[in-house]
Amino acid sequence: MSASHRIAALVLLAAAILAPLLPAFPPFWITLLSYIGLSSLVALGLVVLVGVAGLTSFGQAMFVGFGAYTTAILTTRYGLSPWLTLPVALLVSGLLAWGIGAITLRLKGHYLAIATIAWNVSFYYLAGNLDFFQRNDGISGIPAITLFGIDFADSLNFYWLVLFCLVLAIVLTRNLLDSRPGRAVRALRGGALAAESFGVNTYKARVLAFVYAGILAGLSGWLYAHLQRAVNPSPFGINMSIDYLLMAVAGGVHNIGGALLGAAIVTILRDQLQTMLPWLLNAQGNFETIVFGALLILILQFSPRGLWPHLMRLFDRLMPKAAEPAVPPASEAPPLPLRQQPDRGAEVLRATELRKQFGGLVAVDNVGFQLNAGEVVGLIGPNGAGKSTTFNLLTGVLPATRGSVLFLKDEICGRTARHIATLGIARTFQHVKLVHGMSVLDNVALGAHLRASAGPVQAALLLDKAEEARIFALAWQQLHRVGLAHCAHLAADELSLGQQRLVEIARALCLDPVLLLLDEPAAGLRHLEKAALAKLLDKLRQEGMTILLVEHDMDFVMNLTDRLVVMNFGAELAQGRPKDIQGNPAVIDAYLGTAA
Ligand code: ADP
Ligand code: MG
Repeated sequence: MSASHRIAALVLLAAAILAPLLPAFPPFWITLLSYIGLSSLVALGLVVLVGVAGLTSFGQAMFVGFGAYTTAILTTRYGLSPWLTLPVALLVSGLLAWGIGAITLRLKGHYLAIATIAWNVSFYYLAGNLDFFQRNDGISGIPAITLFGIDFADSLNFYWLVLFCLVLAIVLTRNLLDSRPGRAVRALRGGALAAESFGVNTYKARVLAFVYAGILAGLSGWLYAHLQRAVNPSPFGINMSIDYLLMAVAGGVHNIGGALLGAAIVTILRDQLQTMLPWLLNAQGNFETIVFGALLILILQFSPRGLWPHLMRLFDRLMPKAAEPAVPPASEAPPLPLRQQPDRGAEVLRATELRKQFGGLVAVDNVGFQLNAGEVVGLIGPNGAGKSTTFNLLTGVLPATRGSVLFLKDEICGRTARHIATLGIARTFQHVKLVHGMSVLDNVALGAHLRASAGPVQAALLLDKAEEARIFALAWQQLHRVGLAHCAHLAADELSLGQQRLVEIARALCLDPVLLLLDEPAAGLRHLEKAALAKLLDKLRQEGMTILLVEHDMDFVMNLTDRLVVMNFGAELAQGRPKDIQGNPAVIDAYLGTAA
């Protein structure tokens, strides 16, 4: 957040605190503000879930219901104090989100969305038909909240409480997103493949986002129950879930501000339309739903990122934006521990009779080679020869049909990408896989995921700062190495494709790999950039790193590599020193002739 945005947020907060104190402020609007706050909590969860993790839920009203019914039942039936039911309500909604997520989050895309609808509908009918929930009559007589003599039955006091919870939730959300587990969740948008290759458990990251959104909704439900003093199933049905989604999408699901904006717009609009439309149409009914439907279509059509980015653009035009410093902050952070590298010349990897079939196509056919510590080996061959597939077999991205890969004497064939990353193999992708919209620096920091350990609770409470400093000192260092420190604060997709490849190399280096696999790293680089890259790879070799690289630029390959493995139609055509390969008639015939 830039300095001007921070000032704007503080001004907004001051307005939210002071406005209700104005003598002319209508009491009804205080209640409306409370409702905006309650919806904002749910929409905030959707920012994390939909905007950041890319998961769609049509079931958030159900989690609000979990929080509301928990406190309703515990306070009315067992006489518990609301302050005791608060942690229970959060726990119940969190645990149920975890349970539902564990079952449901293996589904992707539309299936996940449909499953959340099913859960929500089931809950709605359960609550409406079970005596335990007092059926459609619901539970009344929920006590008001009091604290040190402050009575939160008073609407202004209750509003302060909502505002306090909301500000707290915003702070926790920001802390969480700006952390190791937060980067893991954000990495989901760059594709599970890249994230898993850097050790992120993408399933766990999805569950984390789901549980977090569930807890925020549960908090909203707890507050709601004590505002209304009664609960029944209707505000926890699928209609309300759709409204929450509408809020997030209308405001802008990629920003915390968007959630607040959307919650405000939809809540106020609903209130106005509910009185205006029946009067205009001279008939009773929930006509606002039609307007909301139309609104959603218009926003998705004309501003798919919601209204928030427009507001921000307007703001930035009015307020000059201070440039972010492109130099790393001086860091006293001690470097992260390094792994023990194998002795120079020792065997690092041995692939034997490696084979991959895609249906009838044999993409990799009985390929075998060995890599020794401190070597740069080139894997070359015409397009479609099976080079990238070989990379995918070595890194566990694809399962091999047959064969063996020994890495530091351990069999890794059949292991997951995540496991192989922990052993010290890092890679780049021929088709660049960075998280768009996330800063270059954060993308690089993702590479250090396995070298740190902070979890979501530590992150939310800012107990991970020392570790974060070490991660970012490393990320800056690797960005310097690839010559892109001046781009650290840009979004990854603002860079040229060649630069994005360099960012991938910096990310891979953050893993502290034993073996580095580079898939066409020089493609799209300018001449000088290529020379700088060759120099960097040579330096890494001198430091003892082992590198396997796929590249079509023959000058680059011949000058840099110690050995070459040539593939053609999935099979191994030749192996040897660059000089010998250059003179090999079979290689010239199949590849070099055309490349030259
Ligand atoms: P290279 O990297 O050497 O250009 P690839 O390894 O990408 O070649 O591809 C080798 C062959 O395998 C190609 O014919 C390609 O179309 C095929 N192939 C690669 N990935 C898949 C996949 N996931 N499914 C089916 N065929 C694939
Ligand atoms: Mg390829």
